[in-house]
Amino acid sequence: MTTVLDYRKIVDSILAKTGKSEKDIKDMISNKIERFAGLLTEEGAAFMVAKELGLEVEIEFQSERNLKISDLRKGLKNVCLLARVLNIGEIRSFERDGRKGRYCKIVIADETGETTLTLWDRQVQMIDSEKICKGGALFVDGCYVTEFRGNLALSLSLRGRIYNADGRYDLSKLPRVKPSLVRLSDIKEPTKNVDFFARVTRVFDRFEFEKDGDKGDVLRFEVWDGKKITKVVAWHNITSKAQKLYSGELIKIEGADVKEGRNGLEVHLGTRSRIIENPKTEIVIPEIYEITGKSYVRKKINEITEANYFAEVFAEIVSVRKSKFLYDFCNECRASSSNSVCERCGKKTKKRLVVSLRIDDGFANINCIMFGRVAENVTGFSTLKLTELVEKDGTDKALKLLEEKMIGSFVLLHGTSRKSIGQKEEIEMIVDDILPIDNKKEVEGFYYALSEMKP
Ligand SMILES: [Zn+2]
Repeated sequence: MTTVLDYRKIVDSILAKTGKSEKDIKDMISNKIERFAGLLTEEGAAFMVAKELGLEVEIEFQSERNLKISDLRKGLKNVCLLARVLNIGEIRSFERDGRKGRYCKIVIADETGETTLTLWDRQVQMIDSEKICKGGALFVDGCYVTEFRGNLALSLSLRGRIYNADGRYDLSKLPRVKPSLVRLSDIKEPTKNVDFFARVTRVFDRFEFEKDGDKGDVLRFEVWDGKKITKVVAWHNITSKAQKLYSGELIKIEGADVKEGRNGLEVHLGTRSRIIENPKTEIVIPEIYEITGKSYVRKKINEITEANYFAEVFAEIVSVRKSKFLYDFCNECRASSSNSVCERCGKKTKKRLVVSLRIDDGFANINCIMFGRVAENVTGFSTLKLTELVEKDGTDKALKLLEEKMIGSFVLLHGTSRKSIGQKEEIEMIVDDILPIDNKKEVEGFYYALSEMKP
C-alpha cells in the first residue's frame, strides 16, 4: 500500500485555512520543487508546504498494483510493476542548491513492452552492488509516469522501492534476455545490445556535432580484445566518461551496438550503454605494450633524464605556464595550423586546448604539456568553455582561474619525455593520459617519500 496525495485538495486546503493567494501557494510549491532538484512531485512539494504552514493534510491510501508497461499513462502515480532490466545507462551526477546526488536511467521490459525508469541515489547504489544488473528481474514499487519528447517514462518517487525479483516472483511471462556477453573479435556482422571486455588503446578528443537536427558530443576511442583493435564511437552523455579513459585500461562495455562503419565494423555507445572501469572478470585481456609500443614505468622525476622515456609520474602541480591556451588544429590531418583554415587540406580547423604545467614530486620538477582531451581532463574545462573565457576575459584571467583550480592538486599521469624545443634545453613531458588517483595510497606514499628525504 502506498500513499496518494491529491494536489488540488492540498492547495484548496491551504487556500481555505491560510488566506494566502493561489499564486503565492503555487510559488511556494515551485520553489520547493526547484530546491529539491526535480526529485519531488508537485504533490510531494504541496504536502511539504502545507506541513510547514502547520496544516494537517489528509492522506489517502491507494495504489496501482501490478500494472503492465502497456497500461502506463502520463500522470499515473504509485505504479508497481514487475519487469526485466534490458539495459543500464551511464550513472550520472547532479548538483543543485548544494545538494549532490546521482541518477541513472535503465530500460526495463515486460511482456507488453519496454520503458525507461530513472533511479536516484539509494537505488543507484543497487547498481554499484550489482543487485540491479542487466538481464535481472525487478519488482518496482512506487514510481510515477512522466512524458518527455512524446515518450512515456517512469521515475522512482522519493518513497519508492525496488526489489530484486529473481527467485521471488513468477517471472515466466517476462521476456527472456539472450546472453549478451561477446568477444568483439568474434563478431562478424552488425548486432545490437552486446557486452564485452576490452582494453583501451587510444582515446581521441571530444567534438560537438550537428547533423539532421541532432546535436551533441561525439568521441572516438579504440579498444583491443586480445586479437583485434576495434573503433568505438561514443555519443552524447557517455562521452564525459569515455574521455577520461586511458590507454591500457581494462573496461567492460554494456549495451553497445555494432554497426557497419567506413572501415569495417565499429561499436556505438549511446544512452543505453555504459562503461564499467576496473570490472571484475576472469577473462584475461593481454596488456597492450605490443600494440602501442609504450610501457609506462613508474618513475621519480629525477630519473627522467633523457628523451623517449615512457613514464608514469605522480606529482603535485606547482605552476601553470602563461600561454594562449588554444591553437588551431585540423582534425583530418591531425596537425596544427597557423590559422582557421588547414594549410594541408583546406578544411576549417578547430580550436584545441594546450596547457603547460610544472609538476613536482619532491625529488625534482618537470614541465608537462597537455593537449586536447588530456588538457580538458586536467583543467576540468571543456575547450568550448575555455575558448569563451579567453575571448571574454583574456588569457591573464584564464591563467588566474587555472592556477586557482590546479595549483596544489596532484596528478597521476602517463607521459613521453622529449627535449624541449624552447631556448633553454631541458627534458619535458608530453602527457598521453591522466589517470584516476587512488588517493590514500598515492598521497601517503608522497609524504612518506618527502619525510624520508629530510635529514
Ligand atoms: Zn587538414
